[in-house]
Amino acid sequence: MARVYNFSAGPSMLPESVLNRAAAEMLDYKGSGQSVLEMSHRSKVYEEIIFGARDLFKEVMGIPDNYKVIFCQGGASTQFAAIPLNFLNGSGKADYVLSGQFSTKAYKEATKYGEIKVVGSSKEQNFSCIPELNKADFTPDADYFYICQNNTIYGTRFTELPDTGNVPLVADVSSCFLSEPMDVSKYGVIYGGAQKNVAPAGLTVVIVREDLLGNARDYTPTMLDYKTLADNDSMYNTPPCYSIYMCKLVLEWIKNLGGLEAMKLHNEKKCSILYDFIDNSKMFNNPVKKSDRSMMNVTFVTESDELNAKFVKDATAAGFVNLKGHRSVGGMRASIYNAMPIEGVEKLVEFMAEFEKNN
Ligand SMILES: *Cc1c(COP(=O)(O)O)cnc(C)c1O
Repeated sequence: MARVYNFSAGPSMLPESVLNRAAAEMLDYKGSGQSVLEMSHRSKVYEEIIFGARDLFKEVMGIPDNYKVIFCQGGASTQFAAIPLNFLNGSGKADYVLSGQFSTKAYKEATKYGEIKVVGSSKEQNFSCIPELNKADFTPDADYFYICQNNTIYGTRFTELPDTGNVPLVADVSSCFLSEPMDVSKYGVIYGGAQKNVAPAGLTVVIVREDLLGNARDYTPTMLDYKTLADNDSMYNTPPCYSIYMCKLVLEWIKNLGGLEAMKLHNEKKCSILYDFIDNSKMFNNPVKKSDRSMMNVTFVTESDELNAKFVKDATAAGFVNLKGHRSVGGMRASIYNAMPIEGVEKLVEFMAEFEKNN
């Protein structure tokens, strides 16, 4: 069967060349006579994989030396608790921006551990924009300031980071990881689940400034203490070995294509094709504030739920799958992460034009 164009928000498409490479190495990884799925994480051959992935992360993202790259499990959602447990350790206060469902979940989790202030929310606008922020509302002695940088469900993103001064900025980048260059030095902590743009599910990557480590609350579960993981090269226990291997292959793929600058151009091109079409369409509409539009998750609706459902059904039949919007917002969403080729978006737009003509 031909491969479909998969617009899933996550787990999502992986580059075909990466899948082919993984398939070729499946039974015998580099002459080891075993699959990466089977090997000991304490073996020399696996160490090359995990350290290689870590070093490539540093290289591809240009991560400064005073940051640690940690591989962990439990998904981004586990970090909603790990963040306050590790960093809510001075004043016990933190500021959160509510720009969607994931930041709201993270906020609720954090309120179990300290005094958490909402410094901006776009809930009233159905999260169709990034909230306006006023620096005067920020807590000067907060232990950290939290944002979700790209809102997967609503299709919005921060195009400018809040100026938090000396307060470390913590960002959930699950759905925009590795999609464009980032100035890591502007953040205290960057983290994301890998299954959107980095690797298969099972791996969560945390990038943390070293001086923020070592002050986790005493009741923090050992496995959630970032220092434990950092001190043990992410191998305090068995890491998600295969996802880390896939992550390494994806990083090599990005590097070979010209790095994050090239990814950015590739992604900008794709989202412009889609947004331009939607803006000129009489049937489809993007419900998001223009200046806050995501590059990775493009949401769109027609005038009725029936027509939306018909679109999703017809698109699926034509080989464009997982276009149904998140259950909490309805409509459609095309997630166009790094691995989605330009051709996939061009074909989708052709299909949308045809659908508009016929309906
Ligand atoms: C998908 C997603 C999450 C949740 O990730 P899990 O790995 O399923 O816990 C959190 N934040 C953002 C921005 C996401 O896109």
